[in-house]
Amino acid sequence: MKIKKVEVKSYCVDLPTPVKAYAAGLMTNFGMVIVEITDENNLKGYGYTVMHGEQQDSIASIIKNTYSKILIDTDSDRIEYLWNLMWRKTHYAGRGGSASFSIAAVDTALWDLNARRLNLPLWRLLGGNDPKVKAYAGNIDLNFPIEKILDNATKNIEDGYKAIKMRLGRDSLKEDIARVEAMRNHIGDDIELMADANEAWRLDQAIKASNMLNEFNLIWLEEPIKPDDFIGYGQLRSKGKTSIAAGENLHTLQEFQLLIYFKGVDFPEPDLTSCGGVTPFMKIARLAEANNLPIISHGAHDVHIQLLGACPNAAYVEVHAFGIENYISHPMEMVDGYAIASDRPGIGFDFNFDKLKQYETK
Ligand SMILES: [Mg+2]
Repeated sequence: MKIKKVEVKSYCVDLPTPVKAYAAGLMTNFGMVIVEITDENNLKGYGYTVMHGEQQDSIASIIKNTYSKILIDTDSDRIEYLWNLMWRKTHYAGRGGSASFSIAAVDTALWDLNARRLNLPLWRLLGGNDPKVKAYAGNIDLNFPIEKILDNATKNIEDGYKAIKMRLGRDSLKEDIARVEAMRNHIGDDIELMADANEAWRLDQAIKASNMLNEFNLIWLEEPIKPDDFIGYGQLRSKGKTSIAAGENLHTLQEFQLLIYFKGVDFPEPDLTSCGGVTPFMKIARLAEANNLPIISHGAHDVHIQLLGACPNAAYVEVHAFGIENYISHPMEMVDGYAIASDRPGIGFDFNFDKLKQYETK
């Protein structure tokens, strides 16, 4: 089926509460670009990408001005072909950055369109492993006082979560450790705990932190150093005692190959909205599998559950603070701490464009 129309909409969505992570700082909103692709039978597929606020229009313009011409009148099921055409067209100025975000929205829309045509949910079309994947609450809470993060953890547990993430990167490591200790004492030993430092530290600080955190039995320490310091990640993992998660700031399959080659990661963490869509996400998941590593997702949980449901090495889906549950028809279902990939076709939900209208930027 030929592609007949490509529509692009961009939004800057307000967050209910400003949240802070070390690298990004205080965030009051997030940017989102939604792509709608229509085939010659008038069937539509949807994809989206997410980024920090106020960058959505530049991402949308790449799709409108450059990719639309490539897509129109081409077979919509030639996803690899189209992915590579889009990549080659923009890699010189946008390689691994804006190109990966822009292609992600288009690629996801193409997978959604083809899955809807076949009347299959993506998790079955991509491999059909297990629709049930352990979920964790991906709290962004560096700016919150300790009392508030403990209250939020209580709410997470009441909502059924059995795994919770908190942020690190306060003014001193001593303060970070005290916050982790308070959290561990609050939630007990049966709730799993992760900590995300969002690039807060130098390598020597990260090694020290990794070893000091050992007594709190973290599932992982996430992104403690700069994302593309692959050699540093290898050293951190060999000298530190806490398992390492990383990948949300890697934007190509090749970057994941380097991180794994340098033995820098225990939990590869791609994000389909930043690594180029469903197509590279699944390649990264298989790369991890070939290296006997699990795969976890960052952000965009309503779509990621469909991808992780296809992967035998799926370990956790992050339920991210940049949620879109208020703007879609069928938010991700959770049962007893596990997320469940729906059996509705494609990504499993439709966007509520009327509700999103208030945030439209272009
Ligand atoms: Mg993170």
